[in-house]
Parts: sequence; structure tokens; C-alpha cells
Amino acid sequence: MIQLPRLRFAHLPTPIEAMPRLSAVLGGPNLWIKRDDQTGLALGGNKTRKLEFLIAEAQAHGARTLLTAGAVQSNHCRQTAAAAARNGFECILVLSGNQPNEVSGNLLLDQMLGAQIIWTKRSERDHTLQKAFDHAWSAGKRPYLIPYGGSSPTGAAGYAYAVAEMMAQCGPQQEVPMPEWVIFASSSGGTHAGLVVGAKAFQYPGQIFGISIDEQEDVLQARVADLATKTAELMGVIESFSPAEILVNADYLGDGYGIMSSVEVEAISLFARHEGILLDPVYTGRCAAGLIGLIRQNTFPKNSNVLFWHTGGSPALFAEQYRNALI
Ligand SMILES: *Cc1c(COP(=O)(O)O)cnc(C)c1O
Repeated sequence: MIQLPRLRFAHLPTPIEAMPRLSAVLGGPNLWIKRDDQTGLALGGNKTRKLEFLIAEAQAHGARTLLTAGAVQSNHCRQTAAAAARNGFECILVLSGNQPNEVSGNLLLDQMLGAQIIWTKRSERDHTLQKAFDHAWSAGKRPYLIPYGGSSPTGAAGYAYAVAEMMAQCGPQQEVPMPEWVIFASSSGGTHAGLVVGAKAFQYPGQIFGISIDEQEDVLQARVADLATKTAELMGVIESFSPAEILVNADYLGDGYGIMSSVEVEAISLFARHEGILLDPVYTGRCAAGLIGLIRQNTFPKNSNVLFWHTGGSPALFAEQYRNALI
């Protein structure tokens, strides 16, 4: 396996904790949680692992500015802004949606972290991003473009190495048994692709199971398989991946991306009240709703071990569009 260039600013390894009260309340398998909400960079989250590799690549290209795009409450944009500040880059964020009247949640943090924000309509965001890149380039800012969600092969590699980290924390010599399932929120696919590459490379014996946040099953399977194949190639892992081997559940898409309904509210409330753990309205709340739904359908044998990989996002709990719906 090739050792890719990497910076070190994430707090790793993130802890794995038991969730005995939540397990008892749901009456299903033993639940564990891997705390990638605690990766340490400006309130943490899964993008931090990707950014350790992405920023090393940006430095190798002689870049001085990080440019990326996302939704108004993007956790990826907030972590990119923080990683830029931490490593001496300027940061430009292209955010799609309407500029809200009140600055809250991740958007507040983007501004505190010093990012320049460009607003665009969702339908025009690729075009606006290209224009922002060209403009920054001609202004001598040496921009480096980070794709949506940091989900290039370079970013996804962060989650391949994370499988080795998890496996070192689990097993007969450890307090945590090796989980039969790893379950997590999957959207732009980088986390998912990295995990499946890592599972192959490090011979993880269980299942890597993504809960889709905003895509139909076949779309996400194809995206993850393609990205996993490219990530494996980049890492020097001789494997290719087909869509059929990517495990996805797309039964919890609800009314679409970022639209919180009663199932997410219930999941967020159960994690908060029984384990003191904060999820988020867009990703981990939906993934947890999926996990709870699957437990209620008896998907997992009673004594099995299921690891919920917390991917972060809690700043969005304080966003104006969500906070009043949560209590
Ligand atoms: C971005 C994000 C995800 C999805 O990760 P992808 O690699 O884009 O699939 C999940 N959870 C949170 C909190 C995120 O911010």
C-alpha cells in the first residue's frame, strides 16, 4: 500500500464508546459509537479525516487558497474553512441556497473562521464554482478546488485508513468487540468509498453499511463503487468494486436533503436523552432514524454488535431552520 502525503491535525484515534442505555431502550443488538464528531477541528466531523490528505495535496500543488462548495449548513465547508485557517490558506466557499436573514449554525462558524462566501443558486453552482476558481486564479491566489464533500480519491483515502484505526480498537484483546456491522450516513460517497477500500485492504470481517441521505440506492451504489475503485488505485490496493457489492439502504430519504421530519427528531432525541450524544438534523439524525427503523424490523441478531460511526454535524442543530423543531 502506498503511503499518501498527509498532514496531522485531527484528534485520532477517535474513541469508540458503548451505548448500553440506547441498546436497552431499542431492545436490539449491542450498539457502539465511533466518535468522529470529536475529530477536534472546529467542532469536528468526518471531513477532517479527508482534509488531512486533501490539504497535503493542496500544499504539494503550491496552492494558497482552498475553494469548495456546499449547502448553507454544510459541515464540509465549515471544516474546510477551519483547516484553511489552521494551515495558512485563504478559503473561498460557494454556498447554494438563499442567503438567510439570520447567520446561524455552520454559516456563523464559516464567517468566524474567516472564509469568503459566494452565494449561488443550486442550479448554477458548478458554473459559479468554476467562475470563482478562474477569478481566484487570475488574482494570483493559487486556488485548489476541493470537490463537494471532499469526496475525491485523495479525500476518501482518509476513511480507508480509519478502518485500520477502528480495527485496532476492537477485538478479543480490547474492550470493544469487532462489530459485525458498521453503519453511517452516506451522501457524496467519500466516507463510504474509503470505508469499503479500508475494509478490503485491512480485511475487516463485517459489513460496511451506508444509510443514504439523499440518493436512490442504485445511484449511490454506482457513485461509491466508482470512487472506491479510484481510491484503491490511488492507494496501491489491487481491488476494484462493483455497485452490487456496495451495501446501501435508501429507505430513509424522507422529503429530501436537509428536510427534517419526525423520524429524525425521534432519533436525535433518543441519542440525546439516553446517551448524552448530539446528532445532527441532516446526516446523523437521518442515519440514526435508519438504524432505529432497521432494529425495529429485526435486521440485526440480538447479540450482534453494531457500530454507529458518528460523522459529526452538530453545529447544524443551532441553525435557525432546525432548532425550534428539535424540542
Ligand atoms: C458530509 C457528511 C456526511 C456524508 O459524508 P460523505 O462522505 O459526503 O458521504 C455524513 N455526516 C455528516 C455530519 C457530514 O457532514
